[in-house]
Amino acid sequence: MELIFEQGAPGRTGIRLPAADVPEKEIEQMIPPKYLRLDPPRLPEVSEVEAVRHFVGLSQLNYGVDTGFYPLGSCTMKYNPKVNEEIANLNGFRGVHPYQNEDTVQGCLELLYQMDRYLSEITGMVKFSMQPAAGAQGELSGLMMIKAYHENRGEGHRTRIIVPDSSHGTNPASAQMAGLEIVEIKSSQSGRIDLDELKKNLDGRLAGIMLTNPNTLGLFESDIRKVADLVHQAGGLLYNDGANANAILGIATPGAMGFDVIHLNLHKSFAAPHGGGGPGSGPVGVKEHLVPFLPKPVVELKEGRYYLDYDRPLSIGRVKAFYGNFGVVVKAYAYIRAMGPEGLRRVTEDAVLNANYLMQRLKGYYELPYNQVCKHEFVLSGSRQKEKGVSTEDIAKRLLDYGYHPPTIYFPLIVKEALMIEPTETESLETLDEFIETMIKIAREAAQEPETVIKAPHTTVVGRLDGVKAARKPVLRWKPDA
Ligand SMILES: *Cc1c(COP(=O)(O)O)cnc(C)c1O
Repeated sequence: MELIFEQGAPGRTGIRLPAADVPEKEIEQMIPPKYLRLDPPRLPEVSEVEAVRHFVGLSQLNYGVDTGFYPLGSCTMKYNPKVNEEIANLNGFRGVHPYQNEDTVQGCLELLYQMDRYLSEITGMVKFSMQPAAGAQGELSGLMMIKAYHENRGEGHRTRIIVPDSSHGTNPASAQMAGLEIVEIKSSQSGRIDLDELKKNLDGRLAGIMLTNPNTLGLFESDIRKVADLVHQAGGLLYNDGANANAILGIATPGAMGFDVIHLNLHKSFAAPHGGGGPGSGPVGVKEHLVPFLPKPVVELKEGRYYLDYDRPLSIGRVKAFYGNFGVVVKAYAYIRAMGPEGLRRVTEDAVLNANYLMQRLKGYYELPYNQVCKHEFVLSGSRQKEKGVSTEDIAKRLLDYGYHPPTIYFPLIVKEALMIEPTETESLETLDEFIETMIKIAREAAQEPETVIKAPHTTVVGRLDGVKAARKPVLRWKPDA
């Protein structure tokens, strides 16, 4: 694609500015000479239509959930209803200032308070803070609370946190940032927590355990109550990575499973856009014994008036400026209100049904290492194709040719050549069937004409990018002399 800097011609312009009504001499006298530009800026000189085509062209290079199926496992790329954007855009939400007097923003505070009530009910927790701006920041906040809890009880030596080898990469990263020592445990043959492995690590140094349930293989941790009892008996707490609540809404609550603290991703399960589409929100919720440690301020209600409570001596403090990404909370609130309890339960039922449908129809063509009923997602392995020299990355690139965003690949780490697929509940049967047909077609190509897959993509604007260089030496801006 041609860069805009390479388009146009000298003197061409898309706008006509009125002549300056201040004499040039006067301007020069007002501005110190060192700030005056001597040479004209090296900007492209293009007409309006060239500028419009350039930017619209760029926007069309992007792939989003509004353009097509996006089965990126663990990321819950569900459709984001547009009505939520409109509601977040109401002047009473969009136009407020964080320094406004509490009495003038009662509606906003009420929304935050109500959201805390809803999320508490959905998860079986007692109280939520909307401050964290992402799932990972919710994790960090939750772990800081666990640490503060132990310290407050004179047990500051409890610094070890158990993290299973199937965990999301943010889990060990957050634990490290919180100053905890990570103890990784291996999953069992069935892809779940291995109770014997767990028992080896339950001692007086235990701060807690971080778990995703269902885990990143899409499997429900059926021993969760036993795990909770064992960890609690050893004096530890249970952290739930609740980023993928799509799998349990209205059916199971983390509170009843025995978790003490959880974060949710409003920008996954609760339909707020993410990725390039918008900022995140990772509210963190706790049971009674952790409430004093929540980030402050929290919203409280007294005699019909909402207020921000800063008087919380045990709080871990602020984790984000003001009250979090308020606009995202508004979108998720609108979503919860529109769905209602039955609607949220239906989300989970359909998300799980869709995932199992895909899994059943694809397992004849790709290896399914954990052949069990899954929850909202499942993990295939491209190991059969790998024998023919076709890697999972090749399969992902070939999907681009067919107009799909690929699934998550090479994660979870415990599955070789992993393809992690999450269809979400918002896709139609037709879309799922078309995707299945495409995946089957690619499996055939891998067997019969592997070169086609290995050399993919063939139809995209750019082919295979140097992923390492893109990460180490990103070029994010056009420069005249680069
Ligand atoms: C997405 C995700 C996270 C991290 O959420 P961010 O908002 O990207 O920080 C953590 N855990 C799991 C299981 C996830 O899927």
